[in-house]
Amino acid sequence: MNDVSYISTRGKAKSAAASEAIIKGIAEDGGLFVPNYIPDFNGSLAGMENKSYKEIAGIILKAFFDDFKCGELTRCIEKAYDVKFGTTEIAPVKDAGGNLFLELFHGPTLAFKDMALSILPYLMKISAARQGIQNELVILTATSGDTGKAALEGFNNVEGTRVIVFFPENGVSEIQKRQMITHSGNNTFVIGVRGNFDMAQNGVKDIFTDQGLIDELDGKGYILSSANSINIGRLFPQVVYYFHAYLSLVRSGKISTGEMINVAVPTGNFGNILAAYYSKAMGLPIGKLICASNENRVLYDFFRSGEYNISEREFVSTISPSMDILISSNLERLLYLASAGDSEMTRYLMEQLKTKGRYSIPDFMKDRLDDFYGGSADGETAKRSIREVFISHGYLMDTHTAVAYSVLKKYVEETGDDKKAVIVSTASPFKFPSAVMSAVSPEYIGVSNYELLREMSRLAGTNIPSGLDGIEKRPVVHNRVCESGEMKKAVRDILKL
Ligand SMILES: *Cc1c(COP(=O)(O)O)cnc(C)c1O
Repeated sequence: MNDVSYISTRGKAKSAAASEAIIKGIAEDGGLFVPNYIPDFNGSLAGMENKSYKEIAGIILKAFFDDFKCGELTRCIEKAYDVKFGTTEIAPVKDAGGNLFLELFHGPTLAFKDMALSILPYLMKISAARQGIQNELVILTATSGDTGKAALEGFNNVEGTRVIVFFPENGVSEIQKRQMITHSGNNTFVIGVRGNFDMAQNGVKDIFTDQGLIDELDGKGYILSSANSINIGRLFPQVVYYFHAYLSLVRSGKISTGEMINVAVPTGNFGNILAAYYSKAMGLPIGKLICASNENRVLYDFFRSGEYNISEREFVSTISPSMDILISSNLERLLYLASAGDSEMTRYLMEQLKTKGRYSIPDFMKDRLDDFYGGSADGETAKRSIREVFISHGYLMDTHTAVAYSVLKKYVEETGDDKKAVIVSTASPFKFPSAVMSAVSPEYIGVSNYELLREMSRLAGTNIPSGLDGIEKRPVVHNRVCESGEMKKAVRDILKL
């Protein structure tokens, strides 16, 4: 097999081995790392249907992270996908009246971020050793809700690492905030920022680009790293569940090997659906990639018109907050692939976005995006879907999954394409009790989140997931709050600089 190396989408950085790209997160020219070639698995699918999640992970990750030794990868996989997932299948596909839900929320924090953030810390540790880094890794993250808690869980008590999470003090859901501020662990720090997510995100970027601070940290034995979704250590572990889902549908006889399926993905930063696109490029028989947006429909407009435009758009806060995003960072990789690896074009488009808040792709690129269908569903539509699926099939979807379900329905109505479709379910309904329960019945409007958890457990006939059970009684261990201008100072205090 060829050696996979990682090149920048913007073409001005040296190529890197997987371990180097995992530690750096982003290329030196500001571009994203992409593999120089995409391994082909089409011929190996037959016969793989009896493999476990971990075995499939081993095969796929080895193809992308080829400077890891097999034994090292196996250990990472064993530590990541263990009993902290509430099911041995790790990512089961549930059939609710013919709707196939790929449930990615059985990890400790009940959202799909666990799929990648449970393995990333181990990949980072090995990468650091391979790169000769002896400093302690300090993971800095700004979160709009789900990434923060998943990073805290993933790096919890992992030796040689610390994780510092900044969240907008009033910009996350009650349950999301409680999950973070009650998190105990000897290497984890959580700080509320007085401001919105963008301010927290910019504060983190400021820290990453402050060379003086970086040098000072180095002197004290620390190196900064990021756990955000552009890291290849997050992207490629997400390919695994598409293969696993397809193979488990073959195993259960719902499809035959080689049969095309569609996938519908609730999308924010474009990481999850990009993993589906890579899976397709690797030979997994996927037809359409249905990209579902909420009211922040910048991607919907992009797939319709070929123009990505954030300059005339208001950020909308919705009932699917983890998809409330205007700059979908991972889209840059799609631009690179759709331009057939034209890094000059990619760089030009990204510059346009930065300076003008918009860009338009040329027709030849637009033609190559035929694999995608962009759709959007608002909160009311998503709530109607939650109610409809619960009443018809007794299955409770969360608000993000409901956006994907709604857009898939629209797609089938519009096109008549009724291939089997996998709806990617990114969060447990227990994570968003007030929106989900008020969709089921208006009698739940105004009831407290914690009471609703108990009521939801009764309705769904399942226990409250252990990650949330009794969460209202857990002691608050993080009560540090700072202004967005004081984030550097907070990092200094925590690391005792
Ligand atoms: C992060 C997240 C998404 C969006 O995923 P992207 O990979 O950023 O597109 C959707 N749903 C939930 C619940 C999430 O946490």
